[in-house]
Formats: sequence, structure tokens, C-alpha cells
Amino acid sequence: MNRVAELLALADQVTGFMPSDEGRALFDNALLHGARKPNGTWLEIGAYCGKSSIYLGAAAEQGSCLLYSLDHHHGSEENQAGWPYHDPTLVDLEDGRLNTLPHWQRNIAKARLEDSVVALVGESSIIAKHFAQPLDLLFIDGGHGHDVAWRDFQLWARKITVGGFLIIHDVFANPADGGQVPYEIYRTAVQSGVFVDVAEVGSLRVTVRIR
Ligand code: SAH
Ligand code: MG
Repeated sequence: MNRVAELLALADQVTGFMPSDEGRALFDNALLHGARKPNGTWLEIGAYCGKSSIYLGAAAEQGSCLLYSLDHHHGSEENQAGWPYHDPTLVDLEDGRLNTLPHWQRNIAKARLEDSVVALVGESSIIAKHFAQPLDLLFIDGGHGHDVAWRDFQLWARKITVGGFLIIHDVFANPADGGQVPYEIYRTAVQSGVFVDVAEVGSLRVTVRIR
């Protein structure tokens, strides 16, 4: 199996919240961007166990790009005990808190992507305020609560270069399919005229910054 096929197959197996058609679309679009602009600086918000990190990392490796994979690794609200997306196997037995970092590290090591994917462990808004590097690609898939998600958009999307990609996950136009915050953010990005649609697969929206 070639390197890319190996990584996509591995990503498909990782615990997470991204169907494989969306993962492949994430890979395909990132690959295109990396071919057009190699050596780029990319960042994802929401690493969890590394599923999207491997789809994006596979593309980053091909384009000699670096993907920063940001997460505090203690889970979103819906990942906590008593919520529908809680996975008790991800709880740290020492302190009883969710901790996805060891799982993320193991998966990135298994993928041999350590030279293309680097963890940023901490709260998104704190890191954003001290992160001055322009971004060629930003993937937003962190907390989906109103304030958290809007803060991610407001603090990070402004760092995207003209020609850079803004990719948003869990965009549901119909409230029956899921929470509306990522959709509102996506709509605002496009209606502002700053971002233009590139691709749409499932709940994944790929846009490009045009000014
Ligand atoms: N992209 C992942 C899924 C991410 S789930 C995949 O493909 O599987 C959302 C993640 O966002 C969780 O791991 C959670 O810990 C993280 N998160 C939520 N709010 C955050 C914040 N304010 N700062 C950093 N990480 C956050
Ligand atoms: Mg998601």
C-alpha cells in the first residue's frame, strides 16, 4: 500500500466524529492546497484522538506543510460524563478527567506523522492571543457551544492568508440534523464576502479567503 492509502486507512480506524467520506474530502482539499502552496502553516482546532489530524497530516506531509493540532484534550461539553458523546475509556484514572492526549500521541506515532503534525496543548483562545504566524489552512472542529465556537472563528480566522483555506466541520443547515453554531459561523464567513465556497461534503465546508 502506498503511503497516502496507508494513512487514510489508518485515519478511518481512529476513534472520532468524522465519517470517512468527510475525512477524505478533508484530505483531498488540503492536498490541493498544499500542492498549490507548499511549506504552509496549518492549524486544526479540535484534535481529540487524532482522526482529522491524520487526514490533514497525510496532506501536510505531501506538501511539506506543518499542521498544528490544537486541543486542551479534556473534551468538549458533550464529551463529559453523562453526555451522549462520552467515552469512558478516555478517562484518566489518576484524576478522573477526560484526557485524549495519550491517544492522540499514540495515533500520530503509529502514523509516523510526527514531523508533519505538532500538538498545541491548551485552551484555544489563550493560544490564539499569542499566535502570530499567518495560517494557510485553518480547520475549525473544537467546542460547538455558542461562545467557544464564535471565539474560535473570531480569534483564528483573521490569521488566514488571502488564498488560504477555512474549513469548518459539523455545519448543519437543518436544526434537526445538529447544533446551529458552526452553520452560523460558516454563513457569516461566506456572507461577509471574505470567504468563498470551494467544496461541501456532508457537514464539511471548505472555503477560501479571497480578500
Ligand atoms: N477533529 C476531531 C474531533 C474534535 S472533537 C476528530 O476528527 O476526531 C472537539 C475537540 O475540541 C475535543 O477534543 C475538545 O477537547 C476540544 N475543545 C473544545 N473546546 C476547546 C477549547 N476551548 N480549547 C481547546 N480545545 C477545545
Ligand atoms: Mg466535528
